[in-house]
Amino acid sequence: MFKRLRTRQMKRYLITGASRGIGRAIAEKLAAADVTLLLHGRDTVALADTRKAVEPHCAQVILLIHDLAESSGVSDLIAEVGAQPIELLVNNAGVAVVKPFGEITQIEWEQTVGVNVTAPFMLTQHFVPKMPPGSSIVNILSIAARTGFANWSAYCMSKFALEGFSQSVREELRDRKIRVINLYPAATDTNIWDHIEGKWPRRKMISPKDVASAVAYALSRPADVALENITLSNLTGNL
Ligand code: NAP
Repeated sequence: MFKRLRTRQMKRYLITGASRGIGRAIAEKLAAADVTLLLHGRDTVALADTRKAVEPHCAQVILLIHDLAESSGVSDLIAEVGAQPIELLVNNAGVAVVKPFGEITQIEWEQTVGVNVTAPFMLTQHFVPKMPPGSSIVNILSIAARTGFANWSAYCMSKFALEGFSQSVREELRDRKIRVINLYPAATDTNIWDHIEGKWPRRKMISPKDVASAVAYALSRPADVALENITLSNLTGNL
């Protein structure tokens, strides 16, 4: 008797901000033989390092270099991903402008909205119509999506906005069996802190790998089980 050959269903995962930090950790965690990873970033050298880490473990890696602060950059990214559906969108790329609200420039405000809110909106709106049932959208929010912090007004504004958008989209997609999984990490030890004034206890922060493990766990649940809102707190200090 001939054995029936089973072809494994190939999947395409798009992760924004995969050049470093949480995005890179997610890419490393989700790399698998049946997955094509579409990895976005701006820094070509850092993104190539991510590629090096994941390439041996997945079917294919495609690098996408675009600035998401402008909607034209998001449109270019969408065009490069092409018409084939994706099974997972990870809205991870993000910026943090941290200063008293009186000092925030309009350009900083608009860039924050562009990267943290408009890009996830445009990507979600574009990719969802072709997503098959069982697909997922992962949004990397923050504990700052639900609580205000002094000097973090632009950042909190953007995460609260993405929170409202994603909670509503989740309800629209429930019947299509598309899961919207929101992550709310506390302070996580990544390069985002390099540009934030002040002394931050980096070694006490959550590791990006812990955030990635939470994402992988939520995605590994049966398709009809949605782990929808995951907060990662840090028990080693008030972070
Ligand atoms: P990170 O190490 O600074 O990485 C940020 C990523 O976003 C990089 O890949 C970066 O790309 C990309 N990015 C930034 N500005 C961009 C732009 N204008 N256009 C395109 N890509 C851009 O920070 P992270 O901590 O991993 O942050 C990832 C996500 O986690 C963000 O949404 C952040 O708000 C969220 N988060 C972080 C923490 C934390 O404490 N670290 C806590 C909660 C939530 P390039 O480097 O290639 O430019």
